[in-house]
Amino acid sequence: MKRTKIVATLGPSSSAPDVIAAMAEAGMDVARINASHGTAVEHEVWAGRVREVARALGRPLGLMLDTRGPEVRVGELPQPISLSPGEEVLLGERGIPVNYGGLVEDVPVGAEVFLADGSILLRVTGKERGALRCRVERGGRLGPGKRVSVPGVRLALPPLPPADRESLRLARELSFEFVALSFVQGPEDVEAARQELGPGPWLVAKVETQAAVQDMARIVAAADGAMVARGDLGVEVDLFRVPLVQRRLVDLCNSHAKPVVVATQMLESMVNSPVPTRAEVADVAAAVWDGADGVMLSEETAVGRYPVEAVRAMACASRAAESGEVEIRVPGLVPELVGQVPAAIARAACQIAEEIRAAAIVCATFSGWTARLLSSFRSKVPIVATTPVEETVRRLTLVWGVIPLKIDRQDTPDALAAAAVATAKGEGLISPGDRVVFTAGLPFWQAGTTNLVRVLEVS
Ligand code: ATP
Ligand code: MG
Ligand code: MG
Repeated sequence: MKRTKIVATLGPSSSAPDVIAAMAEAGMDVARINASHGTAVEHEVWAGRVREVARALGRPLGLMLDTRGPEVRVGELPQPISLSPGEEVLLGERGIPVNYGGLVEDVPVGAEVFLADGSILLRVTGKERGALRCRVERGGRLGPGKRVSVPGVRLALPPLPPADRESLRLARELSFEFVALSFVQGPEDVEAARQELGPGPWLVAKVETQAAVQDMARIVAAADGAMVARGDLGVEVDLFRVPLVQRRLVDLCNSHAKPVVVATQMLESMVNSPVPTRAEVADVAAAVWDGADGVMLSEETAVGRYPVEAVRAMACASRAAESGEVEIRVPGLVPELVGQVPAAIARAACQIAEEIRAAAIVCATFSGWTARLLSSFRSKVPIVATTPVEETVRRLTLVWGVIPLKIDRQDTPDALAAAAVATAKGEGLISPGDRVVFTAGLPFWQAGTTNLVRVLEVS
């Protein structure tokens, strides 16, 4: 059984129904659609396919919409181009197209411009009508839609561009479980998105700018989860400090019991190779040991040649890291949560379960909060979350170690315990004679009321 969740990005390589199904069977838990690429029509079709696959497989899959955010991208290129060091190029009209005309105005001569997650570096040497004149300092191949980053230069872009409002509408209409917010600068950006979206999807703040790194604690407090968006982070901050930010952000999220995803270049070589490198396998293990809830695939599944193999390799790497031979970090909950009843119950349930060698912790949950608290202790015992709320089932696809199951509403604590245990047994997760630790809350079906823990024997 795999406990770390896998987020896989859909793209031209992985949008066919049979590929989505194969990725799900290989261990994909959440399908990510990036609003920065492709069209809204396409995204809607893909989202429908994910729902269809989940139905056919009888297993929940989450949908994550990743917003564009205030970003600049390379525009349409008839074919990828090669840039060589020393070469002079125009960025803008009559040169490499970009989707933001204000770049010429905003970027001063002398500035560094990074392309394609920092792999290519240009230096601005002058300005022309509608374009920046640049010298290539570090060359490489450039395709359409690649990111243009200008670290330290404030661009006059709105925090939530019109294109994003459109994709947020799609996320709302198609009930996406998660919205990943790109280029968040502070907690206000999270609040603004929540205003726009209303209650619904969990907002996952992507930490990928200098400002966000400086304000991580408040961003995590405002959001429902976070992503270590290592692509832009390695350009906007400092490549060599990315692992430090990863460790700190993962810790922060764990201590708030909020899901956190480590993203970008995890199995990069698998874009063109059917097997990962040792370093990539080690990177996935490190993310698991840091305490990531989810690990993500980007290019590997969006445009790579081996999307299904990439998911399978990610699952194998996670499973090996979770074997229990190496402890996963548990930073402990923040002071605001310690001392609250649900947190105390969750901690006790994990302790009891390990001590009596329970086969599972079965929690009855409404919002998924108790499941998140249980998960935050990284218990060696499987966590089964039973809920009557369909959305909760699909949201828990992003929470480490939690197996979400739908159950009917029940009227008494005994009936609830019986139904929850029977459902877990029906799924083959527990067997007769097993002991399980059961948690629930009274009064019934109110979020945040977990106050009961029982040890049951499966009949
Ligand atoms: P972000 O910074 O939001 O992660 P990104 O450009 O890195 O943006 P990813 O979603 O991480 O995009 O995907 C990695 C690469 O896969 C993209 O740069 C793009 O080349 C390709 N890709 C992703 N989604 C699509 C798509 N729907 N259509 C075409 N190419 C895509
Ligand atoms: Mg983005
Ligand atoms: Mg990316």
